[in-house]
Amino acid sequence: MMPVTGRIHSLETCGMVDGPGIRFLIFTQGCPLRCLYCHNPDTWKRTGGKEVTAHEIIETARKYKNYLLASGGGITITGGEPLFQADFVQALLLEAKAAGIHTAVDTSGFAPPAARKAVLPHADLVLLDIKSAVPALFKKISGVSITYTLATLNELKEWNVPVWIRHVVVPGLTDKPEDAEKLAHMLKGYPNIEKVEILPFHKMGEYKWEQLHEPYTLKETEAPSDELIHNIRTIFSRTMNIPIQ
Ligand code: SF4
Repeated sequence: MMPVTGRIHSLETCGMVDGPGIRFLIFTQGCPLRCLYCHNPDTWKRTGGKEVTAHEIIETARKYKNYLLASGGGITITGGEPLFQADFVQALLLEAKAAGIHTAVDTSGFAPPAARKAVLPHADLVLLDIKSAVPALFKKISGVSITYTLATLNELKEWNVPVWIRHVVVPGLTDKPEDAEKLAHMLKGYPNIEKVEILPFHKMGEYKWEQLHEPYTLKETEAPSDELIHNIRTIFSRTMNIPIQ
């Protein structure tokens, strides 16, 4: 059988924030979204990064297996958008599973049905990034429609895949209490959601936009205050009976 290949941007052996425990992070190359606050615009180009086989990546991850398992961790496939290379990511998940390593996929959920089906039922955990529950705002932030992400959310429930939701709070964009209420109420109907992570906007990737000669429109936007983050988390806690971080 031909080895399954794909393109990755990079690997990191000690991720602490992308799933439980310590994570071996695989940054896939290529993303069809153009989120205004993206901190990895260097992963956008489908043809960038380097070509690797799924097998060699999981062989590398296996070297850290004991250390990952001892921390309750595993591998997290992030990007870029992992669903953009569905066959490759499916192969990574199946090999990791065979090696006894916990798997997580960090995704925007923006992918056609076949790609979603090929990948997501094989993940032990999905970190689903929801930009907004307001369709026009979702489009403004990401450049794409909310439709695929909503379909992904429904399928993950149907397939009973554990989900952690991630939502970035950007002053002037996603800081309205009524929009947070709308998202919290929407998510309430999904018993497979285990946690919601409210993430403060930051500008750590701004220099990459400059290097790529891409216009960074959030130059003047400040990071949200602790109070704003607290208030948004409180809105979610009032509506959803799960950990809100
Ligand atoms: S989905 Fe992720 S990688 Fe793609 S543009 Fe948005 S933030 Fe960047």
